[in-house]
Amino acid sequence: MIPCLYIIIPCYNEQEVLPLTAPMFRQKLLDLIAAEKIASTSRILFVNDGSKDKTWELICKMAEAEEHIIGISQSRNRGHQNAVLAGLMEAKDRCDITISIDCDGQDDIDAMDKMVDAYLAGSEVVYGVRSNRDSDSFFKRHSAQAFYKFLSAMGADIVYNHADYRLVSSRVLQEFADFEEVNLFLRGLIPMVGFQSTTVEYVRKERLAGESKYPLRKMLGLAADGVTSLSVKPLHLIMNFGVLVAIISFIGCIWALITAICGKSVAGWASMTCIICFVGGVQLISLGIIGEYIGKIYLETKRRPRYIISERTWEPEK
Ligand code: UDP
Ligand code: MG
Repeated sequence: MIPCLYIIIPCYNEQEVLPLTAPMFRQKLLDLIAAEKIASTSRILFVNDGSKDKTWELICKMAEAEEHIIGISQSRNRGHQNAVLAGLMEAKDRCDITISIDCDGQDDIDAMDKMVDAYLAGSEVVYGVRSNRDSDSFFKRHSAQAFYKFLSAMGADIVYNHADYRLVSSRVLQEFADFEEVNLFLRGLIPMVGFQSTTVEYVRKERLAGESKYPLRKMLGLAADGVTSLSVKPLHLIMNFGVLVAIISFIGCIWALITAICGKSVAGWASMTCIICFVGGVQLISLGIIGEYIGKIYLETKRRPRYIISERTWEPEK
């Protein structure tokens, strides 16, 4: 059976780049249909993530002109991860496979052929992995590398150099729908669903137009989400560090006692201050990390919807 593919494309203020990349995506979809790798019912699903520019108007216009293009709009900007999730959940009952990809043309669309082939060969999840980062700026390249190293050191199990360009079958998505966390970090959560998976390498290009919608602030937020929603290792680290400091303090006490008994004690203001500052700092950082987790628990217990779709380019069935 030929699978039906939905290409999920999150867009946030992308009016500069959409007119350039949308025809490329469309052509790719038509080529794949012509090659009989995917069914003719396949679609491109744009997810407007509460853009403030003309992005949604553009999507509506394209959907009107071309039957293979459809779109949904989130009620406000909720971030890339939630936009992709909204698209995946919208698509999961309509198709056999989904491919999520950024709309800026950075990810090589030709890798889709290999992804579909890998699916036909039996993989339920295919991760797109960047083979190099030459096109990224020096800062982006190194900060991204630090991001992956940091995440794996903190116990989050993710595929190295894989962003959110991946093929996921609807079978996996049905299971994934039961992962109800509000703190989303898709590239860490999808591997947890299991099923047979493989990787496909591609060369990451430069953004075709517009600016990155992932400034350092959002990236740090994503890193913090990645660690705290996937692993409790930082809490173990705090614990271990606490034990270490306690042992050192204990030795320090004995040493202080012995010097006092020998009558050699000298008023050590500097060393005292250092110790107090150090311990105070450690405590504050530890509390901060614990606070992060408590904040996450707080958000999870609220069970707020992870996305709200306000508009669709088609009439939903009653
Ligand atoms: N994006 C989104 N919501 C946001 C930020 C980004 O849907 O709040 C989309 C954006 O339109 C793009 C993708 O996420 O399709 C990746 O963003 P970007 O290319 O700016 O990130 P970078 O490649 O620089 O990491
Ligand atoms: Mg990009």
